Amino acid sequence: MYESEKRAVLDCALTMEHYRLVSLSGGNVSMRLPDGTFLVTPTAVRYDSMRPDDIVRVDAQGKVVEGCLRPSSDTSALLFVFKHMPTVNAVIHTHQPYATAAGLVTDVLPAFLTLMIDATQQAVHVAPFTISSDEGMGALAVEYARGALCVILKHHGVMAFGKDLDQALEAAVYLEDAARIYLLARAVGPVPLLDEKQIAEQAEDRGNYGQKK
Ligand SMILES: [Zn+2]
Repeated sequence: MYESEKRAVLDCALTMEHYRLVSLSGGNVSMRLPDGTFLVTPTAVRYDSMRPDDIVRVDAQGKVVEGCLRPSSDTSALLFVFKHMPTVNAVIHTHQPYATAAGLVTDVLPAFLTLMIDATQQAVHVAPFTISSDEGMGALAVEYARGALCVILKHHGVMAFGKDLDQALEAAVYLEDAARIYLLARAVGPVPLLDEKQIAEQAEDRGNYGQKK
């Protein structure tokens, strides 16, 4: 079942690797299905050798309902996010280096660039360290998301959320671009910020971005 959705999850994982947000089998991709189950990438399988049938389907308790492999070790954290963020249908977890590095030197990555406001919608907060592969990682991600489509997990990586896989992927990729620019600027001086009005104006949908569907 869900062949096209499994293909989409794998394509998203390969794109995540293409943009160097993860290496080998790091991170994970997951999505909510209409029947209340979830697709999750398997644990410790390299994306470049993964097949669509390797994507695991689990129920809301994390029990495997379809697939031969074990799901991501972060599955309990991912299910916590889906449960507590009902508008989120896709979660991408990465170990992207620039955003993770920024999370070591600041508690919040401000909404200081147009591309970041467009992709993450808000400043991106840094959740304190917690062990991975535990529901607590999901609880901190929900607590520190604070309206943004990304949260940085200190000493770990990033979780990006979306109404679909594309939105979560764009949030993660553009956050990485923004974090690289932030670190470059901070290396030579203080980073000027945008005020609330400027951020709100940039965040407004002006209807001229994107192809008509
Ligand atoms: Zn991780």
